[in-house]
Amino acid sequence: MSSYKAPDFYQIDDLLTEEECMVRDSVRDWVSAEFMPVIEEHNRAATFPADLIPQLGELGVLGAGLEGYGCAGLSPTSYGLILQELERGDSGLRSFVSVQGSLCMFPIHAYGTEEQKQKWLPKMAKGELIGCFGLTEADFGSNPGGMLTRLDDAGDHYVLNGSKYWITNGCVADVAIVSAKLDGVVRLILVEKGTPGYSTNTIKNKFSLRASVTSELVFEDVKVPKANLLPGVEGLKGPLSCLNSARYGIAFGAVGAAMAVYDEALRYSQNRIMFDRPIARFQLVQNKLVWMINEITKGQLLAWRLGKLKESHKLHHSHVSLAKRNNCWMALECCRLARDILGANGITDEYQVMRHMCNLESVITYEGTHDIHALIVGREITGENAIM
Ligand SMILES: Cc1cc2nc3c(=O)[nH]c(=O)nc-3n(C[C@H](O)[C@H](O)[C@H](O)COP(=O)(O)OP(=O)(O)OC[C@H]3O[C@@H](n4cnc5c(N)ncnc54)[C@H](O)[C@@H]3O)c2cc1C
Repeated sequence: MSSYKAPDFYQIDDLLTEEECMVRDSVRDWVSAEFMPVIEEHNRAATFPADLIPQLGELGVLGAGLEGYGCAGLSPTSYGLILQELERGDSGLRSFVSVQGSLCMFPIHAYGTEEQKQKWLPKMAKGELIGCFGLTEADFGSNPGGMLTRLDDAGDHYVLNGSKYWITNGCVADVAIVSAKLDGVVRLILVEKGTPGYSTNTIKNKFSLRASVTSELVFEDVKVPKANLLPGVEGLKGPLSCLNSARYGIAFGAVGAAMAVYDEALRYSQNRIMFDRPIARFQLVQNKLVWMINEITKGQLLAWRLGKLKESHKLHHSHVSLAKRNNCWMALECCRLARDILGANGITDEYQVMRHMCNLESVITYEGTHDIHALIVGREITGENAIM
């Protein structure tokens, strides 16, 4: 993959600052040099390359958009471009970084006490401590407000009961940021690994996001210190603001996956000889490649604009929904077309297209499904709520 050539048909690089290009290129080079050589073996074995976590810390990509506490304090566009490059490698790699930065470090940074920030953020930024984010339950996915997990006040501590399902990094996390109801109101609380009554199980046999740890979290009468509650937020607004930050990153990340399979399909079409000519010379093959570069270019522009809206504090969560929805869909369609161009070879893991395609089936579902995001945008433009 050292020959990866990122598509930039509309010279979008001209819209980026020198710093944004530099950050993007350093992550791009790292993915090519360190991650691409190992991803297929990890995908086969269904393991995450945990030995690379310290390097992610050194690269400064963990919580990269946050200020202070050892975080890089980069611009929203730089943060997005980091995720684009990581997902060019694999959605599991981008998921790891999104969960750590957007779903765990962000809420500690935004809603935590000074003590919580000092305790967790510097080590999380270095990759010395790993986080997970427990919102979804087996029976409450798109409707997290129905969650059953609850906190009870027991005087000098809380007691946590319930379970969470489909939790990225769950089994490997040093700390879980758990959404639970206290007196009927959703709160975010830090639960440390090893706390009695807190256990995890790996969700096995996934076709998708194989190089990512996905888990169940179980809480049975877990005593959690009151100091672990994130005091700065109450209600679903807490977890939803984390999701908004993560979805922002996915809008960029999905473009990276689409760029990867486009590049693979383009090069394949120029080298694959059929009927004594490269298949790139056939009009129908060109049409597929043109569809891909057309949609990737639109996706790049959407993501870039999202960054600018965020930087000027004009970003609304429906903007994020539109971009997350569009870019995941377009990336999945690119995978399907790229697989078609690769013919039979496209189904083997000698090529990356099937891995990206399978991964994107999760990415289009998690952090709000494709249809839920349609309903969020629909609610914004019509004023009518069709979600419930
Ligand atoms: C690999 C992976 C990793 C994940 N990591 C995490 C994590 O780290 N933390 C976490 O908390 N969660 C995580 N999730 C969970 C993820 O966020 C949920 O799967 C997602 O929110 C969808 O919920 P669900 O799977 O229960 O689907 P459901 O909510 O059951 O939806 C099923 C279908 O019904 C549709 N639907 C539901 N409600 C409506 C409606 N009102 N109107 C129209 N259609 C509707 C959906 O669009 C979908 O097509 C992960 C999931 C996966 C697959």
